[in-house]
Amino acid sequence: MMESEEGKERKEKDGLRLTLIHNGVIVTMDDGSRVYSNGAIVVEGDRIRAIGRSSEIIDRFSPLADEIVDLQGRIVLPGFVNTHVHTSQQLARGIADDVDLLTWLHERIWPYESNMTEEDSYLSTLLCGIELIRSGVTCFAEAGGQHVPGMARAVELLGIRACLTESTMDSGKGLPSGWSARSADDCIQSQRELYSRHHGAADGRIRVWLGIRQIMNATDQLLLETRNVAKELKTGIHMHVAEISYENQYVANTRGVNGGTVTYLEKIGFLQSNLLAAHSVWVSDNEIELLSKAAVKVSHCPASAMRMLGFAPIKEMLQIGLCVSLGTDGAPSNNRMSIVDEMYLASLINKGREAYTKGATDPTAVPAKAVLKMATIDGAKAVLWDDEIGSLDVGKKADLVVVKPFTWSMVPVHDCISSLVYCMRTENIESVMCNGHWIMRDQKILTIGEDQIVAQAKHASIELLKRAGIKISPKMNVL
Ligand SMILES: [Zn+2]
Repeated sequence: MMESEEGKERKEKDGLRLTLIHNGVIVTMDDGSRVYSNGAIVVEGDRIRAIGRSSEIIDRFSPLADEIVDLQGRIVLPGFVNTHVHTSQQLARGIADDVDLLTWLHERIWPYESNMTEEDSYLSTLLCGIELIRSGVTCFAEAGGQHVPGMARAVELLGIRACLTESTMDSGKGLPSGWSARSADDCIQSQRELYSRHHGAADGRIRVWLGIRQIMNATDQLLLETRNVAKELKTGIHMHVAEISYENQYVANTRGVNGGTVTYLEKIGFLQSNLLAAHSVWVSDNEIELLSKAAVKVSHCPASAMRMLGFAPIKEMLQIGLCVSLGTDGAPSNNRMSIVDEMYLASLINKGREAYTKGATDPTAVPAKAVLKMATIDGAKAVLWDDEIGSLDVGKKADLVVVKPFTWSMVPVHDCISSLVYCMRTENIESVMCNGHWIMRDQKILTIGEDQIVAQAKHASIELLKRAGIKISPKMNVL
């Protein structure tokens, strides 16, 4: 009787759709690190209503359910959070492979970005979104790109969650002509407008953050106004911090402060708990402490670091209790936008780094559990959204991923957490739910026409490269 009364009450109240997912391994990533070996989740509307052992959940909720999904032993995880991705760079995949950093930036990326239209940004974000969803990402933090309205339109359609940020620069050498004239006031005003237009859009899935591209392209006025406005709007700041070793030299030369970017940012009072510092490769032990004291969040991008930046001291950051999350960076820095690949790399690179710094690898460094936290709950903390996402908890938003572990890449599964980090491939991600809606089922994305977007994006990329005058030399004798 209790079930039918509950059902009646539910339908009378708001008629929210109820989905019962059961008979699976539920990896909650909650405070108690609970894993239900035969568990169930009940999704009501956009939130998780119940979670527990299948035996305790099925009888109570199956009479109420609009949809019942029997997982047959599949694994369920919280949706992954990619905390550093340049969605507007997806059309630039492959335009800057095997080139040095200055060529990468001045001759490829800036000409590309400064020639983008809003439609390019829209298509680029859709193309990037396909790869994000296929790798189980339900929330991402845009690193700072072009045409936020184009990104927002794409995110609304894709059905995922995002913290969108405009690329913001008010100084620096080598900028394309259209960008160099921007003042700090212009940058702030433009971001305020984006905030008022898009923050909270798409059923609350879109948030707007403030951005600083990097210290070399930001005056103190821009840094400090960004800090103040972010506080006023109660939002986050996304910035590339201590990305390349030259940055520390640059800070010494131009700001007269020795010690590095983080030391300088601390000195001017810029380090705050709402700062998401991307990369943070060239930081000293003292600077790790400064980041930790200020509760700054770090986005570790292993593939991009290995290609162009260097080894980030992740083991030391975790030891001191710093919140470290995972990002893919943009397509021209990584080529793959899979957070599944980044989990694997994060573990290997940080074990191998011990040989580089201490003479022997350490297989215990940055273990699987820490890596899985980086991609889920710590990712949610990094984007200041852990009150609603990042773990499977009653009352949180229903953002989840279904993994099919029965294929050659994962069999046999002896320890679920190890397998998810060391064995899982993007292809094992079978279904994805965000905000209570299935956005991918059985590896078919339901929110957009994938083939059509791939074709349009291919065309838009060719046209954009022509406009920007970017030529890619073939690496072999192409006949
Ligand atoms: Zn970046």
